[in-house]
Amino acid sequence: MASGYPANSFGRLGVACSQTITEEPFSPETSSLAGNFDTTESINSFHLPGELGDGNTVGKSKSKSGYGYNRAELGSLLAAEDDKLPPELDEDLDGVDTSLLNVPSKCAQQAEEFVKKVWAAGWNVAHHHTLPDWLKDNDFLLRGHRVPTNSFIACFKSIFRIHTETGNIWTHLLGMIAFLGIAAYFLTRPSIEIQWQEKAVFSAFFMGAILCLGFSWVFHTVYCHSERVGRFFNKLDYCGIALLTIGSFVPWLYYSFYCRLEPKVTYLALIFFLGTIAIVVSMWDKFAQPQYRPLRAGVFVALGLSGVIPAMHYVITDGFWHAINYAALGWLVLMALLYIVGAVIYAVRIPERIFPGKFDIWFQSHQIFHVFVLAAAFVHYHGISEIANYRLTLGDCIARGEVE
Ligand SMILES: [Zn+2]
Repeated sequence: MASGYPANSFGRLGVACSQTITEEPFSPETSSLAGNFDTTESINSFHLPGELGDGNTVGKSKSKSGYGYNRAELGSLLAAEDDKLPPELDEDLDGVDTSLLNVPSKCAQQAEEFVKKVWAAGWNVAHHHTLPDWLKDNDFLLRGHRVPTNSFIACFKSIFRIHTETGNIWTHLLGMIAFLGIAAYFLTRPSIEIQWQEKAVFSAFFMGAILCLGFSWVFHTVYCHSERVGRFFNKLDYCGIALLTIGSFVPWLYYSFYCRLEPKVTYLALIFFLGTIAIVVSMWDKFAQPQYRPLRAGVFVALGLSGVIPAMHYVITDGFWHAINYAALGWLVLMALLYIVGAVIYAVRIPERIFPGKFDIWFQSHQIFHVFVLAAAFVHYHGISEIANYRLTLGDCIARGEVE
C-alpha cells in the first residue's frame, strides 16, 4: 500500500495515472514480486472487479502476451472501480489538488507497483471452481490453485510462489537433494571402506528414491502446464513410487538372504514382477482420475506389503528376535507403517476433508503424505545400513558354511 494515501485511494490513483501508462502489454517477467496468496486476499478485500480477483484471467485473456490485461485495460478497470466510490469520498478525492502530490513519476510508479501486485497475486492463483476439470484433483482445496500455464518456464517459476502445490514441490525437491547428497557420499567412499558390491546394491535404493522424489516434484511443478503434460508426468509420478518400492527391496532382500541364493532370487523376481504390474497399471489413463484415489493407494500399499512374505520367511527360519536384532525388522515395520499411514491420509484427504478451504496452502493431506514417504525412505536407508553392517561383519558365506 502507498504511504500517505487513504487506504482506498488506489482507485483514484489508477485513474490519475492511467493516462501515463502506455499500451505495451504488461509482462510478468518484469515483476519482481513473488505470487503471494495473502496478497490476493488483501486485493480482493479491496473490492477489485471480479476479473482481477478471481485469478482466472489467464484463461480469459485475449492479449497477445498471453498474460491477461494490458496496462490500458487495467487503467479502465480501475477507473470503473473508482466510479463505485461513495460520492462523498469521490468528492473528497476530487478536491485534492493534484499539484500537491507534485510527484507524477512517483504516482506512475505506485500505480505500476499496484498493477504488479495484482498480477503477482491475483493472476496466478484461482478458486477451485474456476479450474478446468483436469486440474480439479481435490475438491477440498478451495483457493490458491495455479491456472493452466502452457509454459514450462511459467511452471518452473511457480516453484518460488505460494499456491496449493508449493508444499508438494518442496517436500520432495529437498528430499531428492538430500538423497543425491547421501548417494554421492556413499558411492565416493574408498573401496576399503565400502566395496563395489555394496555400492551396487545400495545404488538400487538410491536410484529408486531419487527417481521417485524427482518425478514427484517435477510432476507437481508441471501439473498445471496442460492436460496432456500433466497426465504424462502424473504417470511418471506413480512409476516413481513403484521404482522406490523395488529399489527398497533390493538391498533388504540381498542382505537378509545374503547366503541363501534361492529365496533371494525368488523374492527379488517377485518384487520386480509386482513392481512391473504396478507400473503397467499406472500407465492406464483412468488410474490418475480422482475416483481411483483409493485404488491407487491400494495398489502401492499392496506392492509394499508383499514384503510381508520374505519377512515371514526370515522370521520362520531365523526366529523373531534375530529378525528384530539383525534384520532391522523393527525399522522395516516402522517404514511400512509410515507408508501405510501416509497412503491412508492420501486416500481419505484429511485434514482438508474436515475443514475445506483451511489447508489450501499448507498441511493438506498430500503434503503430509509426501513427508511420510520421505520419512519412510530415510527409515529404510537406516534399516538397510544396519542389516548391511551386521552382515558384512559376519564375513564370507563359504567360510561360515552358510551357502545353500
Ligand atoms: Zn505427490
